[in-house]
Amino acid sequence: MKTLLAKNAEILVTMDAERRELKNAGIYVEDGVIKQVGPMSELPQTADSVIDLAGQIVLPGFVNCHHHLNQTLTRNLPAAQNNNLFPWLRAHYRIWARTTPEASRLSVLIGLGELALTGCTTVFDHSYIFKSGNSVDCLIDAAKEIGVRFHCSRGSMLLGESKGGLPPDDCVEDEAFILKDTQRAIETYHDASHGAMTRIVVAPCSPFSVTPSLLKESAALARQYGVGLHTHLCETFDEERYTLNNFNMRPVEWMETVDWLGNEVWFAHAIHVDDDEVRAFAQCGCGAAHCPSSNMRLGSGIAPIKKYMEAGVKVGLGVDGSASNDSSNMMLEVRTAFLLARLKMGLLPPEGPSKYMNLSQSHPKRAHEWMTAREALELATLGGAKVLGRDDIGSIEPGKCADFFSMNLHTIDFAGALHDPVAAVVFCAPQKAHYTVINGRVVVDQGNISTVDMGPVIEQHNRCSFNLANEA
Ligand code: ZN
Repeated sequence: MKTLLAKNAEILVTMDAERRELKNAGIYVEDGVIKQVGPMSELPQTADSVIDLAGQIVLPGFVNCHHHLNQTLTRNLPAAQNNNLFPWLRAHYRIWARTTPEASRLSVLIGLGELALTGCTTVFDHSYIFKSGNSVDCLIDAAKEIGVRFHCSRGSMLLGESKGGLPPDDCVEDEAFILKDTQRAIETYHDASHGAMTRIVVAPCSPFSVTPSLLKESAALARQYGVGLHTHLCETFDEERYTLNNFNMRPVEWMETVDWLGNEVWFAHAIHVDDDEVRAFAQCGCGAAHCPSSNMRLGSGIAPIKKYMEAGVKVGLGVDGSASNDSSNMMLEVRTAFLLARLKMGLLPPEGPSKYMNLSQSHPKRAHEWMTAREALELATLGGAKVLGRDDIGSIEPGKCADFFSMNLHTIDFAGALHDPVAAVVFCAPQKAHYTVINGRVVVDQGNISTVDMGPVIEQHNRCSFNLANEA
């Protein structure tokens, strides 16, 4: 049995049922599972590994519900800096289709490395282009190499340009092969057990790159094996026009006709929804992966996150990208979600009479509409765990996976903000993790990735990135 003691945390945010925040506390772990959480006086005094969290805040590991790790190779391409989703996708499809297995491995190490350094311990990667020898196998191998909990899709694109879809014909695959390879991925890698480090998700790319038949077959396959089901939805008005023109239905209504509303489903973005669609998500248990940086970067819109929360819709955060972000920084995403929810509230007209009588009445009564720092942290932890269908991650409490991270509080970045250290990590500029522990293993040790030598990986990744772009 392997044990770990994380000791002396200045403050520890549990996200347990009482949302306890403990002072001078620690965590005791056996074989990757949390056994005890509490004041140092109540914990074992030593273990096989000991990390000292003095002066640090500890939070449950973040859960990233939507990402495309291969896009770390195509961040900030000059040809795709100033366009919205459809032209942005067209500028990238063929480059992504040339990603080799080795380039994929490097992109996973870079993306997961950046995520781990920003407190993220579980990642869903929405991979959907499998050309040039690429496969889920190399993605999963790389995730194991760095040690991040990994949900991986065997995603797909089927509908090429000549058949009315958005991607070029040479970037799409055959329906029978997609379904066969997805089934192989599930049977080979999906682990449904408590504490699983690898799970498979069925994830056709988007309404405008697949067919109704593939959507139906994908939903049936996911339900047959009890795995998650995911796609992009309601991301842009262009997409809405696409389903209205082709199927005479709004995107959510159309997805219902292909069996896509259900508890195992979550949609990336979910921006352009009306109140009935919000209620439909709440009723059927569909989740939303909110990706604020990407939505701002591509000018897509602002998802109604507070409305989802009030309606009881499951909401998690995703960094998306990385070519539409252009980072994999989960702490930044928490802060951006927090600020964007406030901006959305501010864009609404004031409540009450149009003319107020005096300045004391000038402030709209909207306390419930403010996204709080703790709510933003909850979206990134418990919220993400629910979206991915997991009850073994998202909080620091006995029986849960030992996934957590720490940040130094006594730095220039937080100076003057320690009246409320928990809120400070959201209100102040995003900081890096000092320690990140995943499944009881220290993956970030005093600010550095400890499982992979990242220096050479960064150099090779940059070379791959230049080569891919120059072959265009
Ligand atoms: Zn995406």
